[in-house]
Amino acid sequence: MAESLTTRLRIRPRQRVKLARHDPDFTGAFQGKAEVKSATKKNVERLFDLQYKMYAENKHSLLVVLQAMDTAGKDGLIRHVMTGMNPQGCRVVPFKKPSEKEFDHEYLWRIHQAVPPKGEVGIFNRSHYEDVLVVRVHDLVPKSVWSKRFEQINRFEHYLAENGVTIVKFFLHISKDEQKKRLEARLKDPLKRWKFSVGDLAERKHWNEYMLAYEEVLSKCSTPWAPWYVIPANAKWFRNYAVSQILVETLNRLRMSWPKVTFDPKKIKVV
Ligand code: AMP
Ligand code: MG
Repeated sequence: MAESLTTRLRIRPRQRVKLARHDPDFTGAFQGKAEVKSATKKNVERLFDLQYKMYAENKHSLLVVLQAMDTAGKDGLIRHVMTGMNPQGCRVVPFKKPSEKEFDHEYLWRIHQAVPPKGEVGIFNRSHYEDVLVVRVHDLVPKSVWSKRFEQINRFEHYLAENGVTIVKFFLHISKDEQKKRLEARLKDPLKRWKFSVGDLAERKHWNEYMLAYEEVLSKCSTPWAPWYVIPANAKWFRNYAVSQILVETLNRLRMSWPKVTFDPKKIKVV
């Protein structure tokens, strides 16, 4: 049987990732947006049902980690794919530069507090991975400190997984050229201008260092209990489809069921 899209995009444990070998323009068997539109829509509807079941069952939670370079589409993905989810039971948590209080704790402290409780979905817009990405690229802590974090993160995620948290991690992969186009579009379009930040230009200068840092993350932290997926993201419609498909498959594997009732509804009369 042909390898499924999900399997193809998943990084195997200990796989040595070279991002140059992952084409950001890849769109699988699809030629264009029109072909995939109804499939994405169907997945978004399935996600609504699966999330509802998760909420009712109150046994598992789902943690979705989103990481990417600026403009790669974390926000767009959240808008398009998570849009069908019930706000009761779904929370998006953005991670910015740590506050003073957060900074006084170890780096996983703020992360742990944001992990979704049983029955809920949590979407991390950036995450603890920033602590081996931006922190590394900008020398915010010494190498002797950040280099220990890959193992620490694996152990932390393992602990969460053993306690009912299903973890799935997406790296939205765009090319440097695509980022240029998107930054230019933000400057040009008055409706997109608010998204432009001069800081993004400074980060762009470190593109190669970020790619190296991401390669190490993907190579060391894709585990059976918390896999990384590299999502080709130059085509926004493919990015949305691929993530929706992986989420549906991930939730289906949980084999959730509606809670059994302990009463006989035929014997109860509402007066
Ligand atoms: P944005 O997601 O565009 O709102 O930007 C958030 C910013 O916070 C990015 O520049 C991140 O690199 C930065 N950030 C997130 N987590 C950390 C961290 N642990 N240490 C330093 N900077 C961080
Ligand atoms: Mg930004």
